[in-house]
Amino acid sequence: MMTATQYEAVIGIECHVELKTASKMFCGCANEFGGEPNTKVCPVCLALPGALPVPNRAAVEHMIRAGAAFGAEIPEFSKFDRKNYFYPDMPKNYQISQYDMPLTKGGIVRYWLDDGSMRECRLTRIHLEEDTGKSTHAGSGDGRIAGSEYSLVDFNRAGVPLMECVSEPELRSAEEAVAYLEALKRTFVQLGVSDVKMEEGSLRCDANVSIRPTGSTALGTKTEIKNMNSFRSVHRAIESEIARQIAVLESGGRIVQETRGWDEIAGTTHSMRSKEQAHDYRYFPDPDLVPLEIDAALVERLRATLPVLPPARFAKYHSEYGLSPAHATQLIDNASLSAYFDACVNAGGRPQQVANFVLGELSRLSNEGNVPVAESAVTPHDLAELIALVEGNTINSKIAKELLGRMWSGEGSPKSIVEKEGLAQTSDTGAIDGFIAGVLAANAEVVADYRAGKTNVLGFLVGQVMKASRGKANPALVQERLREKLG
Ligand SMILES: [Zn+2]
Repeated sequence: MMTATQYEAVIGIECHVELKTASKMFCGCANEFGGEPNTKVCPVCLALPGALPVPNRAAVEHMIRAGAAFGAEIPEFSKFDRKNYFYPDMPKNYQISQYDMPLTKGGIVRYWLDDGSMRECRLTRIHLEEDTGKSTHAGSGDGRIAGSEYSLVDFNRAGVPLMECVSEPELRSAEEAVAYLEALKRTFVQLGVSDVKMEEGSLRCDANVSIRPTGSTALGTKTEIKNMNSFRSVHRAIESEIARQIAVLESGGRIVQETRGWDEIAGTTHSMRSKEQAHDYRYFPDPDLVPLEIDAALVERLRATLPVLPPARFAKYHSEYGLSPAHATQLIDNASLSAYFDACVNAGGRPQQVANFVLGELSRLSNEGNVPVAESAVTPHDLAELIALVEGNTINSKIAKELLGRMWSGEGSPKSIVEKEGLAQTSDTGAIDGFIAGVLAANAEVVADYRAGKTNVLGFLVGQVMKASRGKANPALVQERLREKLG
């Protein structure tokens, strides 16, 4: 949009991520997605009178590892607070959460954009809380409460451990917001602290969006957008909200602080509730839970378990190995493929060549046969050997592709197949001249065309010679000899 005033967006993200644990946050019920409604419940997560919560140690440890991965401070003391509000799918009428003393404070999320540039966004905090149950509105009507005849509630999800990651308002575009979320997602997956399946609701996020004239440091009035159920809808919702806010200001209006819902079908946000209707949660420390005292030795022990994290891996693949941002990202987002890639490079394969084979032909064979590359018959050592054969001009790339298919089928190492089948590329000029003579004799008209100036037929002739050699001739040599003969 061309306007006299140029605006920049100021975006912060709040993101809820379900932790992957065997049991729920404060009871022994299974933490599993789905199942018959209300089968994974007990007096604690149903909030029956007298039931008492006991914190889940694995969830606390996941939080510490997540915080440590982003370089957050892990305070020695933290505590649980009650967040009071009424909602039909929340049996206690309060949620156990953390208010002023969260498990982790600060930290930095490093992420990258499609062009490979690295960015940073500071975290305010990551705190631990419990998830709510789930309501389903049924009967006639459009699925909203007002039009429904009745509502059903499933408490299987009630009490599932949830971490809430709050970012500082340091993101400046929808693209940055999505790249930031991708970074959170791949870090949590890599740490094994969450499955992060948006389609199962294990990652849910809200965006705070405001705009201000470019160059200004003051913050504009923000709106909070909810109901975005994919990274694509996060992108669309933020873009749509930025455009709406610009239009409001340009027409002389003012932005109202409110919560807005994203409508996936209409592609717009709409007002849900204003600031005046905002909840007062009346937080206070949960008297049923003692404060958490985190031992520094535990933090150190967990810190030592951190794997190589995505930003470091990206720097290695992209900056050091020279892979494209897209190739580097594709590898990082597939743990087993990335480990396979590393093994091939360690076996001596040149990184760019390895990436081309792994993400190209090998991934194609993997999809076709529904077998992960790492579990195929092609060992990292064999792939490195194949690459060496191509680079040493023993075989050309067309034969390499064919060989890879045979290696995939378990026919053995590339060297052994080449020897057994005599597939080695021939640079024997005598043999090549023989193929050329045959091709020229059989294509007199094409030869005449070439000599009459239609030099683009050379490619056709090269192809014919390659075919006559069953793909084994050295293509560069074929071209050179052909040119000479055609003079
Ligand atoms: Zn339970």
